Amino acid sequence: MTILCYHSVAPGWDDPVSVEPIDFDAQCAALARRGDVVSLTAVQAHVAAHGDAPAGTTVLTFDDGFADFVDHAVPIMSRHGLTASMYVVAGSLRPEGVQVDWITGLDAADAPPLLTTDQIRELHDRGWHIGSHTMVHADLPTLSEAECLADLTESRELLSDLLGTAVTTLAYPFGHHAEHVRRAARHAGYDIALALPDKPEQGERYAVPRTGVYRGNPMWKFRVKNMGLYARVRTSSAYQHATGAASALRSRIGA
Ligand SMILES: [Zn+2]
Repeated sequence: MTILCYHSVAPGWDDPVSVEPIDFDAQCAALARRGDVVSLTAVQAHVAAHGDAPAGTTVLTFDDGFADFVDHAVPIMSRHGLTASMYVVAGSLRPEGVQVDWITGLDAADAPPLLTTDQIRELHDRGWHIGSHTMVHADLPTLSEAECLADLTESRELLSDLLGTAVTTLAYPFGHHAEHVRRAARHAGYDIALALPDKPEQGERYAVPRTGVYRGNPMWKFRVKNMGLYARVRTSSAYQHATGAASALRSRIGA
């Protein structure tokens, strides 16, 4: 199973986190031809029934809750018959909203808009899977376990109340986690939590690896990313030696 992690699909946002719609359309066409894209909910059901993730499948995920998801990504995925999970920063549901201060090199005042509460609820009603990306996109390993538990519980409850259904999946901001963070995720009531490994790490239920898709990734690279073994290769020490520069880029953009 491969879980791909996107952030934004928008024309002309020249930032590593944003993929051009024309490129995303080509990526979706390739995925649709393979016919192996499933929802994260289907993966959860398979894990519950069989104890492991379904082999040979691909899941699409989006982090941060940018409104361009509705404008560009959803129409393209719908055209190709694909589905995806969106991980929203639950603080955006509060009247005061949330400062988009987590994209390196981007002033919060210049950040593109996030999905509104109505849009999040509508996406859910139309069958798009919604998960938590914490309250304010905190770098969880820098918080205490009690602080992590409070944040992860509040964001899960806020989203569950909004959607009228239990929110049970989490994507760690920046993909960052640690033992106390994973423990807090479990205690806060999540079923699984998604990471974005940049160094060798053991995959488990509360650190499910994903592979990031970034601006300008050429199609051949996208196909390699979407091979089942990619996540494992990417976390190997040989890969680390081979891709120091790429690693530095990924950490700079704060995926
Ligand atoms: Zn994020």
